[in-house]
Amino acid sequence: MKLLFESSKPGRGMDYLPEIKTGEARPSGKFARNKKLRLPEISEVDLSRHYTSLAKQTHGVNDGFYPLGSCTMKYNPRIDEVCASLKGFTELHPLQPQDTVQGAMEVLHRAEDLLCKITGMDAMTFEPAAGAHGEYTGLLLIRKYHQDKGDTKRVNIIVPDSAHGTNPASAAMAGFKIVNIASDEHGGVDLEALRNAVGEDTAGLMLTNPNTLGLFDPNILEITKIVHEAGGLCYYDGANLNAVMGRVRPGDMGFDCVHLNLHKTFATPHGGGGPGSGPVGCKDFLKKFLPKHEVEKCEGGYRFYDPEKSMGQVRSYYGNFLVVVKALTYILTLGKEGIREASGKAVLNANYMMNKLKGSYHVAYDQICMHEFVLSLEDLKKETGVSAMDIAKGSLDYGIHPPTMYFPLIVHEALMFEPTESESKEVIDEAVKIYLDLYKKAHEDPQYLHDAPHNCAIGRPDETKAAREPVLRYSFDE
Ligand SMILES: *Cc1c(COP(=O)(O)O)cnc(C)c1O
Repeated sequence: MKLLFESSKPGRGMDYLPEIKTGEARPSGKFARNKKLRLPEISEVDLSRHYTSLAKQTHGVNDGFYPLGSCTMKYNPRIDEVCASLKGFTELHPLQPQDTVQGAMEVLHRAEDLLCKITGMDAMTFEPAAGAHGEYTGLLLIRKYHQDKGDTKRVNIIVPDSAHGTNPASAAMAGFKIVNIASDEHGGVDLEALRNAVGEDTAGLMLTNPNTLGLFDPNILEITKIVHEAGGLCYYDGANLNAVMGRVRPGDMGFDCVHLNLHKTFATPHGGGGPGSGPVGCKDFLKKFLPKHEVEKCEGGYRFYDPEKSMGQVRSYYGNFLVVVKALTYILTLGKEGIREASGKAVLNANYMMNKLKGSYHVAYDQICMHEFVLSLEDLKKETGVSAMDIAKGSLDYGIHPPTMYFPLIVHEALMFEPTESESKEVIDEAVKIYLDLYKKAHEDPQYLHDAPHNCAIGRPDETKAAREPVLRYSFDE
Protein backbone atom coordinates (compact mmCIF):
# COMPACT_ATOMS: atom_id res chain seq x y z
CA MET A 1 0.00 0.00 0.00
CA LYS A 2 1.30 3.45 -0.92
CA LEU A 3 1.93 6.10 1.69
CA LEU A 4 0.20 9.46 1.37
CA PHE A 5 3.54 11.03 0.47
CA GLU A 6 3.94 8.57 -2.37
CA SER A 7 0.45 9.22 -3.75
CA SER A 8 0.98 12.98 -3.60
CA LYS A 9 0.69 15.04 -6.82
CA PRO A 10 1.65 18.72 -6.70
CA GLY A 11 -1.39 20.97 -6.42
CA ARG A 12 -3.93 18.20 -6.08
CA GLY A 13 -6.67 18.60 -3.48
CA MET A 14 -5.36 21.97 -2.36
CA ASP A 15 -8.16 24.08 -3.80
CA TYR A 16 -10.14 24.05 -0.58
CA LEU A 17 -7.68 26.30 1.19
CA PRO A 18 -8.98 29.86 1.27
CA GLU A 19 -6.80 32.67 0.04
CA ILE A 20 -4.93 34.50 2.76
CA LYS A 21 -6.51 37.92 3.24
CA THR A 22 -4.57 39.11 6.24
CA GLY A 23 -1.14 39.09 4.64
CA GLU A 24 1.53 36.53 5.43
CA ALA A 25 3.24 36.44 8.78
CA ARG A 26 6.71 34.95 8.52
CA PRO A 27 8.81 34.14 11.55
CA SER A 28 12.37 35.33 11.30
CA GLY A 29 15.74 34.13 12.53
CA LYS A 30 16.11 30.60 13.73
CA PHE A 31 12.38 29.99 13.59
CA ALA A 32 12.18 30.63 9.87
CA ARG A 33 11.64 27.60 7.67
CA ASN A 34 14.39 27.40 5.08
CA LYS A 35 12.85 24.61 3.02
CA LYS A 36 9.38 24.38 1.63
CA LEU A 37 7.05 22.43 3.90
CA ARG A 38 6.36 19.05 2.36
CA LEU A 39 2.83 17.92 2.92
CA PRO A 40 1.10 15.26 0.86
CA GLU A 41 -1.16 16.81 -1.76
CA ILE A 42 -4.02 14.50 -2.43
CA SER A 43 -7.69 14.62 -3.34
CA GLU A 44 -10.35 14.14 -0.70
CA VAL A 45 -11.62 10.86 -2.14
CA ASP A 46 -8.13 9.35 -2.28
CA LEU A 47 -7.46 10.48 1.24
CA SER A 48 -10.68 8.94 2.46
CA ARG A 49 -9.88 5.64 0.70
CA HIS A 50 -6.40 5.63 2.15
CA TYR A 51 -7.65 5.73 5.72
CA THR A 52 -10.49 3.31 5.04
CA SER A 53 -8.11 0.71 3.67
CA LEU A 54 -5.80 1.22 6.65
CA ALA A 55 -8.76 0.71 8.97
CA LYS A 56 -9.61 -2.52 7.17
CA GLN A 57 -6.16 -3.90 7.87
CA THR A 58 -6.40 -3.59 11.59
CA HIS A 59 -8.46 -5.36 14.21
CA GLY A 60 -10.52 -3.50 16.76
CA VAL A 61 -13.21 -4.36 19.26
CA ASN A 62 -15.76 -3.48 16.59
CA ASP A 63 -14.32 -6.17 14.29
CA GLY A 64 -14.48 -9.09 16.63
CA PHE A 65 -13.31 -10.88 19.75
CA TYR A 66 -10.24 -9.30 21.36
CA PRO A 67 -9.16 -11.38 24.37
CA LEU A 68 -5.85 -9.57 24.95
CA GLY A 69 -5.19 -10.52 28.58
CA SER A 70 -4.48 -7.70 31.01
CA CYS A 71 -5.42 -5.05 28.45
CA THR A 72 -9.23 -5.24 28.86
CA MET A 73 -10.15 -4.64 25.26
CA LYS A 74 -13.85 -4.46 25.92
CA TYR A 75 -16.59 -2.64 24.09
CA ASN A 76 -17.30 0.73 25.63
CA PRO A 77 -20.69 2.40 25.36
CA ARG A 78 -20.81 5.14 22.72
CA ILE A 79 -22.32 7.58 25.16
CA ASP A 80 -18.92 7.88 26.83
CA GLU A 81 -17.42 9.16 23.58
CA VAL A 82 -20.38 11.45 23.01
CA CYS A 83 -19.88 13.14 26.38
CA ALA A 84 -16.13 13.44 25.88
CA SER A 85 -16.69 15.15 22.54
CA LEU A 86 -18.97 17.87 23.89
CA LYS A 87 -17.53 21.22 22.88
CA GLY A 88 -17.73 22.53 26.41
CA PHE A 89 -15.03 19.97 27.24
CA THR A 90 -12.97 19.76 24.05
CA GLU A 91 -12.50 23.48 23.58
CA LEU A 92 -11.20 24.27 27.04
CA HIS A 93 -7.80 25.79 27.55
CA PRO A 94 -5.82 24.71 30.62
CA LEU A 95 -4.92 28.30 31.43
CA GLN A 96 -8.49 29.61 31.42
CA PRO A 97 -9.58 31.45 34.58
CA GLN A 98 -11.01 29.01 37.13
CA ASP A 99 -14.42 30.64 37.21
CA THR A 100 -14.86 29.78 33.50
CA VAL A 101 -14.07 26.06 33.92
CA GLN A 102 -16.20 25.17 36.90
CA GLY A 103 -17.93 22.37 34.97
CA ALA A 104 -14.64 20.68 34.15
CA MET A 105 -13.53 21.04 37.74
CA GLU A 106 -16.76 19.41 38.84
CA VAL A 107 -15.95 16.48 36.53
CA LEU A 108 -12.58 16.03 38.22
CA HIS A 109 -14.09 16.37 41.66
CA ARG A 110 -16.95 13.96 41.07
CA ALA A 111 -14.69 11.43 39.35
CA GLU A 112 -12.32 11.64 42.32
CA ASP A 113 -15.17 11.14 44.74
CA LEU A 114 -16.63 8.13 42.94
CA LEU A 115 -13.31 6.43 42.21
CA CYS A 116 -12.30 6.91 45.85
CA LYS A 117 -15.54 5.21 46.87
CA ILE A 118 -14.81 2.34 44.46
CA THR A 119 -11.21 1.89 45.68
CA GLY A 120 -11.60 2.76 49.36
CA MET A 121 -9.19 5.69 49.10
CA ASP A 122 -9.50 9.27 50.40
CA ALA A 123 -7.99 11.37 47.61
CA MET A 124 -6.91 11.00 44.01
CA THR A 125 -4.79 12.70 41.36
CA PHE A 126 -5.57 12.52 37.66
CA GLU A 127 -2.20 13.77 36.47
CA PRO A 128 -0.56 10.46 35.49
CA ALA A 129 -1.08 9.66 31.81
CA ALA A 130 -0.87 5.86 31.98
CA GLY A 131 -0.75 2.91 34.32
CA ALA A 132 3.02 2.77 34.62
CA HIS A 133 3.08 6.53 35.12
CA GLY A 134 0.60 6.06 37.96
CA GLU A 135 2.85 3.44 39.52
CA TYR A 136 5.75 5.86 39.39
CA THR A 137 3.62 8.58 40.99
CA GLY A 138 2.41 6.22 43.73
CA LEU A 139 5.98 5.20 44.49
CA LEU A 140 6.98 8.85 44.78
CA LEU A 141 4.20 9.17 47.38
CA ILE A 142 5.79 6.31 49.32
CA ARG A 143 9.21 7.89 49.02
CA LYS A 144 7.95 11.28 50.17
CA TYR A 145 6.28 9.64 53.16
CA HIS A 146 9.46 8.02 54.40
CA GLN A 147 11.59 11.08 53.63
CA ASP A 148 9.17 13.27 55.53
CA LYS A 149 9.70 11.10 58.58
CA GLY A 150 13.46 11.31 58.11
CA ASP A 151 13.51 7.57 57.52
CA THR A 152 16.17 7.30 54.84
CA LYS A 153 17.02 3.62 55.32
CA ARG A 154 13.94 2.45 53.48
CA VAL A 155 15.18 1.87 49.95
CA ASN A 156 13.60 -1.48 49.03
CA ILE A 157 10.36 -2.21 47.24
CA ILE A 158 9.20 -5.80 47.36
CA VAL A 159 7.71 -7.09 44.11
CA PRO A 160 6.35 -10.63 43.72
CA ASP A 161 7.33 -12.46 40.52
CA SER A 162 3.68 -12.60 39.44
CA ALA A 163 3.54 -8.79 39.25
CA HIS A 164 3.03 -6.89 36.03
CA GLY A 165 6.35 -6.13 34.35
CA THR A 166 5.88 -2.40 34.79
CA ASN A 167 5.99 -2.76 38.62
CA PRO A 168 9.72 -3.42 39.03
CA ALA A 169 10.48 -0.97 36.21
CA SER A 170 8.54 1.85 37.89
CA ALA A 171 10.11 1.09 41.27
CA ALA A 172 13.57 1.33 39.71
CA MET A 173 12.67 4.62 38.03
CA ALA A 174 11.47 6.03 41.32
CA GLY A 175 14.90 5.29 42.75
CA PHE A 176 14.17 2.13 44.76
CA LYS A 177 15.95 -1.21 44.88
CA ILE A 178 13.76 -4.14 43.90
CA VAL A 179 13.45 -7.21 46.06
CA ASN A 180 11.84 -9.99 44.09
CA ILE A 181 9.93 -12.73 45.88
CA ALA A 182 8.68 -15.99 44.40
CA SER A 183 5.10 -17.19 44.18
CA ASP A 184 3.87 -20.20 46.13
CA GLU A 185 2.53 -23.27 44.36
CA HIS A 186 -0.95 -21.72 44.07
CA GLY A 187 0.37 -18.66 42.26
CA GLY A 188 0.01 -16.37 45.31
CA VAL A 189 2.59 -14.50 47.39
CA ASP A 190 4.74 -16.90 49.40
CA LEU A 191 4.16 -15.63 52.96
CA GLU A 192 7.40 -17.09 54.31
CA ALA A 193 9.37 -15.44 51.55
CA LEU A 194 7.60 -12.15 52.32
CA ARG A 195 8.34 -12.40 56.04
CA ASN A 196 11.98 -13.01 55.24
CA ALA A 197 12.12 -10.12 52.80
CA VAL A 198 10.72 -7.33 55.00
CA GLY A 199 12.84 -5.32 57.38
CA GLU A 200 14.06 -1.87 58.31
CA ASP A 201 15.03 -1.23 54.71
CA THR A 202 11.53 -1.96 53.36
CA ALA A 203 9.89 1.08 51.82
CA GLY A 204 6.91 -0.89 50.63
CA LEU A 205 5.30 -3.66 48.64
CA MET A 206 3.85 -3.42 45.17
CA LEU A 207 1.17 -5.95 44.55
CA THR A 208 -0.81 -6.72 41.44
CA ASN A 209 -4.06 -8.24 42.65
CA PRO A 210 -5.51 -10.10 40.91
CA ASN A 211 -2.00 -10.93 39.75
CA THR A 212 -0.85 -11.56 36.20
CA LEU A 213 -2.05 -15.16 36.50
CA GLY A 214 -5.57 -13.82 36.97
CA LEU A 215 -5.61 -15.02 40.57
CA PHE A 216 -6.85 -13.18 43.64
CA ASP A 217 -4.50 -13.66 46.57
CA PRO A 218 -6.48 -15.19 49.45
CA ASN A 219 -3.82 -14.07 51.97
CA ILE A 220 -4.17 -10.43 51.07
CA LEU A 221 -4.93 -9.19 54.61
CA GLU A 222 -1.99 -11.11 56.03
CA ILE A 223 0.27 -9.75 53.29
CA THR A 224 -0.52 -6.09 53.96
CA LYS A 225 -0.22 -6.71 57.71
CA ILE A 226 3.28 -8.16 57.37
CA VAL A 227 4.43 -5.15 55.37
CA HIS A 228 2.83 -2.59 57.70
CA GLU A 229 4.31 -4.23 60.78
CA ALA A 230 7.72 -3.86 59.18
CA GLY A 231 7.06 -0.13 58.66
CA GLY A 232 6.48 -0.29 54.91
CA LEU A 233 3.55 0.91 52.83
CA CYS A 234 1.42 -1.12 50.45
CA TYR A 235 0.88 -0.18 46.82
CA TYR A 236 -1.95 -1.77 44.85
CA ASP A 237 -1.65 -2.10 41.10
CA GLY A 238 -5.32 -1.66 40.24
CA ALA A 239 -4.94 -1.70 36.46
CA ASN A 240 -7.29 -4.65 36.31
CA LEU A 241 -10.01 -3.36 38.59
CA ASN A 242 -12.70 -4.80 36.33
CA ALA A 243 -12.06 -8.05 38.21
CA VAL A 244 -13.10 -6.72 41.60
CA MET A 245 -14.85 -3.36 41.34
CA GLY A 246 -18.05 -3.05 43.31
CA ARG A 247 -17.08 -6.10 45.36
CA VAL A 248 -13.84 -5.52 47.28
CA ARG A 249 -11.76 -2.38 47.71
CA PRO A 250 -7.98 -2.07 47.87
CA GLY A 251 -8.44 0.36 50.77
CA ASP A 252 -10.18 -2.35 52.78
CA MET A 253 -7.48 -4.88 51.94
CA GLY A 254 -4.94 -2.68 53.74
CA PHE A 255 -3.46 -0.79 50.80
CA ASP A 256 -2.26 2.79 51.21
CA CYS A 257 -2.25 3.82 47.57
CA VAL A 258 -3.45 2.48 44.26
CA HIS A 259 -3.41 3.34 40.59
CA LEU A 260 -6.19 2.63 38.14
CA ASN A 261 -6.11 2.31 34.39
CA LEU A 262 -9.06 4.36 33.20
CA HIS A 263 -7.91 3.19 29.76
CA LYS A 264 -8.83 -0.39 30.59
CA THR A 265 -11.51 -0.58 33.20
CA PHE A 266 -13.29 2.73 32.73
CA ALA A 267 -14.35 3.20 29.12
CA THR A 268 -11.18 3.96 27.16
CA PRO A 269 -9.48 1.06 25.34
CA HIS A 270 -5.93 0.23 26.38
CA GLY A 271 -4.81 -0.86 22.96
CA GLY A 272 -5.96 2.31 21.26
CA GLY A 273 -2.55 3.93 21.26
CA GLY A 274 -3.56 6.59 23.75
CA PRO A 275 -4.28 8.85 25.37
CA GLY A 276 -4.55 7.06 28.68
CA SER A 277 -5.07 7.97 32.28
CA GLY A 278 -3.59 6.31 35.36
CA PRO A 279 -5.04 8.16 38.36
CA VAL A 280 -3.50 7.47 41.75
CA GLY A 281 -5.60 7.23 44.90
CA CYS A 282 -4.24 7.35 48.42
CA LYS A 283 -5.26 7.28 52.04
CA ASP A 284 -5.62 10.51 53.98
CA PHE A 285 -2.14 10.45 55.49
CA LEU A 286 -0.53 10.54 52.02
CA LYS A 287 -2.79 13.25 50.61
CA LYS A 288 -0.42 16.09 51.45
CA PHE A 289 2.21 14.65 49.08
CA LEU A 290 -0.03 14.36 46.00
CA PRO A 291 0.86 16.23 42.79
CA LYS A 292 -0.32 19.81 42.38
CA HIS A 293 -3.72 20.90 41.09
CA GLU A 294 -6.05 18.98 43.38
CA VAL A 295 -9.64 20.16 43.14
CA GLU A 296 -11.68 21.03 46.20
CA LYS A 297 -15.09 22.49 46.85
CA CYS A 298 -15.18 26.09 47.95
CA GLU A 299 -17.85 28.69 48.41
CA GLY A 300 -19.90 28.87 45.26
CA GLY A 301 -17.99 26.19 43.33
CA TYR A 302 -14.59 24.55 43.01
CA ARG A 303 -10.99 25.62 43.19
CA PHE A 304 -7.56 24.16 42.53
CA TYR A 305 -5.07 23.91 45.38
CA ASP A 306 -1.59 22.49 45.81
CA PRO A 307 -1.25 19.90 48.60
CA GLU A 308 0.92 21.06 51.50
CA LYS A 309 3.99 18.95 50.74
CA SER A 310 3.23 18.24 47.10
CA MET A 311 5.70 16.20 45.06
CA GLY A 312 5.22 18.78 42.30
CA GLN A 313 3.88 17.82 38.93
CA VAL A 314 4.28 14.54 37.11
CA ARG A 315 2.62 15.82 33.98
CA SER A 316 1.44 19.09 32.50
CA TYR A 317 -1.79 20.56 33.83
CA TYR A 318 -4.52 18.10 34.83
CA GLY A 319 -3.70 14.89 32.97
CA ASN A 320 -5.71 13.56 30.05
CA PHE A 321 -8.93 15.24 31.02
CA LEU A 322 -11.22 13.82 28.34
CA VAL A 323 -10.40 10.29 29.45
CA VAL A 324 -11.68 11.29 32.89
CA VAL A 325 -14.90 12.58 31.28
CA LYS A 326 -15.40 9.16 29.70
CA ALA A 327 -14.73 7.38 32.98
CA LEU A 328 -17.18 9.55 34.88
CA THR A 329 -19.85 9.01 32.22
CA TYR A 330 -19.24 5.28 32.40
CA ILE A 331 -19.56 5.16 36.18
CA LEU A 332 -22.67 7.34 36.23
CA THR A 333 -24.43 5.35 33.49
CA LEU A 334 -23.65 1.98 35.09
CA GLY A 335 -24.33 3.07 38.65
CA LYS A 336 -23.37 1.16 41.76
CA GLU A 337 -25.15 -2.03 40.70
CA GLY A 338 -23.88 -1.86 37.13
CA ILE A 339 -20.26 -1.52 38.23
CA ARG A 340 -20.69 -4.58 40.41
CA GLU A 341 -22.39 -6.46 37.59
CA ALA A 342 -19.53 -5.62 35.18
CA SER A 343 -16.92 -7.23 37.44
CA GLY A 344 -19.19 -10.22 37.96
CA LYS A 345 -19.51 -10.75 34.23
CA ALA A 346 -15.79 -10.26 33.61
CA VAL A 347 -15.04 -13.05 36.09
CA LEU A 348 -17.87 -15.31 34.93
CA ASN A 349 -16.82 -15.01 31.28
CA ALA A 350 -13.19 -15.83 32.06
CA ASN A 351 -14.10 -18.87 34.16
CA TYR A 352 -16.56 -20.08 31.54
CA MET A 353 -14.02 -19.84 28.75
CA MET A 354 -11.25 -21.39 30.84
CA ASN A 355 -13.41 -24.39 31.73
CA LYS A 356 -14.44 -24.92 28.10
CA LEU A 357 -10.79 -25.02 26.98
CA LYS A 358 -9.56 -27.06 29.90
CA GLY A 359 -10.19 -30.54 28.47
CA SER A 360 -7.68 -29.88 25.68
CA TYR A 361 -5.36 -27.04 26.64
CA HIS A 362 -3.40 -27.03 29.86
CA VAL A 363 -4.45 -24.33 32.37
CA ALA A 364 -1.32 -23.05 34.12
CA TYR A 365 -2.91 -22.72 37.56
CA ASP A 366 -6.05 -24.79 37.61
CA GLN A 367 -8.30 -22.95 40.05
CA ILE A 368 -11.08 -20.37 39.96
CA CYS A 369 -9.71 -17.35 38.13
CA MET A 370 -10.70 -13.71 38.16
CA HIS A 371 -11.09 -11.69 34.94
CA GLU A 372 -8.40 -13.58 33.01
CA PHE A 373 -6.62 -16.91 32.89
CA VAL A 374 -3.36 -18.30 31.58
CA LEU A 375 -2.80 -21.41 29.48
CA SER A 376 0.56 -23.10 29.14
CA LEU A 377 1.17 -24.61 25.70
CA GLU A 378 4.41 -26.23 26.76
CA ASP A 379 3.00 -29.77 26.41
CA LEU A 380 1.36 -29.00 23.08
CA LYS A 381 4.67 -27.70 21.80
CA LYS A 382 6.49 -30.84 22.93
CA GLU A 383 3.88 -33.07 21.29
CA THR A 384 3.37 -31.22 18.02
CA GLY A 385 5.97 -28.48 17.69
CA VAL A 386 3.17 -25.92 17.61
CA SER A 387 3.93 -22.98 19.89
CA ALA A 388 1.83 -20.39 21.69
CA MET A 389 2.85 -17.98 18.92
CA ASP A 390 1.57 -20.39 16.22
CA ILE A 391 -1.84 -20.75 17.90
CA ALA A 392 -2.07 -16.99 18.38
CA LYS A 393 -1.21 -16.38 14.72
CA GLY A 394 -3.67 -19.08 13.70
CA SER A 395 -6.52 -17.34 15.50
CA LEU A 396 -5.99 -14.27 13.31
CA ASP A 397 -7.33 -16.15 10.30
CA TYR A 398 -10.60 -16.59 12.18
CA GLY A 399 -10.96 -12.90 12.98
CA ILE A 400 -9.83 -13.17 16.59
CA HIS A 401 -7.19 -10.88 18.01
CA PRO A 402 -4.44 -12.97 19.67
CA PRO A 403 -4.44 -13.27 23.43
CA THR A 404 -1.44 -11.89 25.29
CA MET A 405 1.54 -14.13 24.49
CA TYR A 406 4.55 -15.26 26.51
CA PHE A 407 3.38 -13.35 29.55
CA PRO A 408 3.52 -13.76 32.49
CA LEU A 409 7.11 -14.92 32.27
CA ILE A 410 6.69 -17.52 35.02
CA VAL A 411 4.53 -19.64 32.68
CA HIS A 412 6.19 -21.26 29.65
CA GLU A 413 4.47 -20.94 26.26
CA ALA A 414 1.86 -18.76 27.94
CA LEU A 415 -1.34 -17.51 26.38
CA MET A 416 -3.32 -15.16 28.56
CA PHE A 417 -7.01 -14.67 27.81
CA GLU A 418 -9.29 -11.91 28.99
CA PRO A 419 -12.71 -12.28 27.33
CA THR A 420 -13.95 -9.15 29.23
CA GLU A 421 -17.37 -8.36 30.58
CA SER A 422 -18.77 -7.05 27.32
CA GLU A 423 -18.88 -10.35 25.38
CA SER A 424 -21.91 -12.62 25.12
CA LYS A 425 -21.97 -16.37 25.71
CA GLU A 426 -22.42 -16.92 21.95
CA VAL A 427 -19.24 -15.01 21.10
CA ILE A 428 -17.24 -16.91 23.69
CA ASP A 429 -18.69 -20.24 22.53
CA GLU A 430 -17.65 -19.43 18.97
CA ALA A 431 -14.14 -18.46 20.09
CA VAL A 432 -13.83 -21.67 22.13
CA LYS A 433 -14.80 -23.67 19.06
CA ILE A 434 -12.08 -21.93 17.07
CA TYR A 435 -9.40 -22.56 19.71
CA LEU A 436 -10.41 -26.23 19.91
CA ASP A 437 -10.18 -26.44 16.11
CA LEU A 438 -6.72 -24.91 16.27
CA TYR A 439 -5.75 -27.49 18.88
CA LYS A 440 -6.85 -30.26 16.53
CA LYS A 441 -5.04 -28.63 13.64
CA ALA A 442 -1.85 -28.54 15.71
CA HIS A 443 -1.90 -32.34 15.81
CA GLU A 444 -3.03 -32.88 12.22
CA ASP A 445 -1.15 -30.24 10.26
CA PRO A 446 1.38 -28.37 12.39
CA GLN A 447 3.03 -26.80 9.34
CA TYR A 448 -0.20 -25.00 8.52
CA LEU A 449 -0.01 -23.24 11.88
CA HIS A 450 3.71 -22.52 11.56
CA ASP A 451 2.80 -20.63 8.37
CA ALA A 452 -0.22 -18.81 9.84
CA PRO A 453 -1.73 -16.31 9.43
CA HIS A 454 -2.77 -17.04 5.85
CA ASN A 455 -5.23 -14.19 5.34
CA CYS A 456 -3.62 -11.10 6.89
CA ALA A 457 -1.85 -8.20 5.21
CA ILE A 458 1.14 -8.75 7.46
CA GLY A 459 1.89 -12.16 8.92
CA ARG A 460 4.98 -12.45 11.04
CA PRO A 461 7.00 -9.27 11.21
CA ASP A 462 10.42 -9.33 12.83
CA GLU A 463 9.20 -8.24 16.24
CA THR A 464 12.61 -7.58 17.71
CA LYS A 465 13.58 -5.38 14.80
CA ALA A 466 10.24 -3.59 14.94
CA ALA A 467 10.82 -2.83 18.62
CA ARG A 468 14.54 -2.01 18.42
CA GLU A 469 14.69 -0.20 15.11
CA PRO A 470 11.27 1.28 14.56
CA VAL A 471 10.92 3.32 11.37
CA LEU A 472 8.67 6.14 12.40
CA ARG A 473 9.58 8.80 9.85
CA TYR A 474 9.26 8.90 6.14
CA SER A 475 12.53 9.89 4.53
CA PHE A 476 12.36 11.72 1.24
CA ASP A 477 14.72 10.55 -1.46
CA GLU A 478 16.82 13.65 -2.00
C1 LIG B 1 -1.71 -2.53 31.79
C2 LIG B 1 -1.13 -2.74 33.11
C3 LIG B 1 -0.20 -1.82 33.63
C4 LIG B 1 0.41 -0.68 32.84
O1 LIG B 1 -0.48 0.21 32.28
P1 LIG B 1 0.00 1.18 31.08
O2 LIG B 1 -1.11 2.14 30.94
O3 LIG B 1 0.16 0.27 29.90
O4 LIG B 1 1.26 1.81 31.49
C5 LIG B 1 0.24 -2.02 34.92
N1 LIG B 1 -0.18 -3.07 35.64
C6 LIG B 1 -1.07 -3.99 35.17
C7 LIG B 1 -1.51 -5.12 36.03
C8 LIG B 1 -1.57 -3.85 33.89
O5 LIG B 1 -2.43 -4.76 33.43
